[in-house]
Amino acid sequence: MTPTTSPQDKPRTSASGHDLTPPSPDELQRLAALLSPDERRVLLHQGTEPAFCGGLLNNKKPGVYHCRLCDLPLFRSSAKFESGTGWPSFFEPFDAEHVVVRWDMSHGMSREEIVCGRCGGHLGHRFDDGPKPTGHRYCLNSASLKFVADGEAA
Ligand code: FE
Repeated sequence: MTPTTSPQDKPRTSASGHDLTPPSPDELQRLAALLSPDERRVLLHQGTEPAFCGGLLNNKKPGVYHCRLCDLPLFRSSAKFESGTGWPSFFEPFDAEHVVVRWDMSHGMSREEIVCGRCGGHLGHRFDDGPKPTGHRYCLNSASLKFVADGEAA
């Protein structure tokens, strides 16, 4: 996993008011130790969970989906849709800076990988067959996410 910015960078704040300063290597190690083996495989080693197996696929509660590693809010439940793919799908991020897109040429495919805009944790991939208005389908691993229901503390 590669952080999207180096720790030496000045503190950055997103348009929605969240600190995007990447965790220090020590902090990242501390956070990674709290993950389950499956979460670690997905977030830190670009793993993919099997389709129709993730715990958040059928979650329809109102709330916000956060990065499981660093807790940055990534997607609102209002942007979640039923894609039929077997993975939680969203048509737009919580904040454009919170989800970073980069090319992934692994497995003989050319795909857009999505990573957390703060910690660089692997989230999933982005495809262009999503619904209007964005046409994007952000295809997520449940293991990358922590759901916080409206009215609940993060
Ligand atoms: Fe993160």
